[in-house]
Amino acid sequence: MRKKNHISRISREELLDKSKTKDLSCKCGRIVKHCSNNTEEVTCHICTTLLPKELNDSLLMTKEERQKIKNEKKSKFPPGWKLLSEFVDSDRNVYYRGIIQPRLKGKKEPTDVQSILTKRAENRKNKPKLSKKEKQELKEQKLLKQHEKKQKAIEEKKRRDAKKLKKL
Ligand SMILES: [Zn+2]
Repeated sequence: MRKKNHISRISREELLDKSKTKDLSCKCGRIVKHCSNNTEEVTCHICTTLLPKELNDSLLMTKEERQKIKNEKKSKFPPGWKLLSEFVDSDRNVYYRGIIQPRLKGKKEPTDVQSILTKRAENRKNKPKLSKKEKQELKEQKLLKQHEKKQKAIEEKKRRDAKKLKKL
């Protein structure tokens, strides 16, 4: 392993000479031995590898605890809630298309998330199951319509431009 240079690194001779080193305590209380005399503060090997508290907590959690938090979040915001024109969460924060509206806070009743979910499930059930061929046909029809729309817009523009030219 390559040696890393560090400001507080001391030579072997200095390390053996006890008058040139001192023991310091880290903020967590662990004693770090053999710090050079001009060291003022020290962070021990455990504190340097410590993760931010939130991340550390989530790593210590069991799978079920993590799932529980996930579910709590889920019940508050149904999937796709950002696409709803209006959504009010259980704290009565109002969102228009996923953007919070601070002025409207508390002025509306919370959206019934469960009813949205059941409605969606019903819609999914009632949706006719299409075969591959039918799906393909639908797609083509859509594309054709888009193409026609585009062509119309182009023609319209041409006509308008021609009119403008005539006026000139
Ligand atoms: Zn420490």
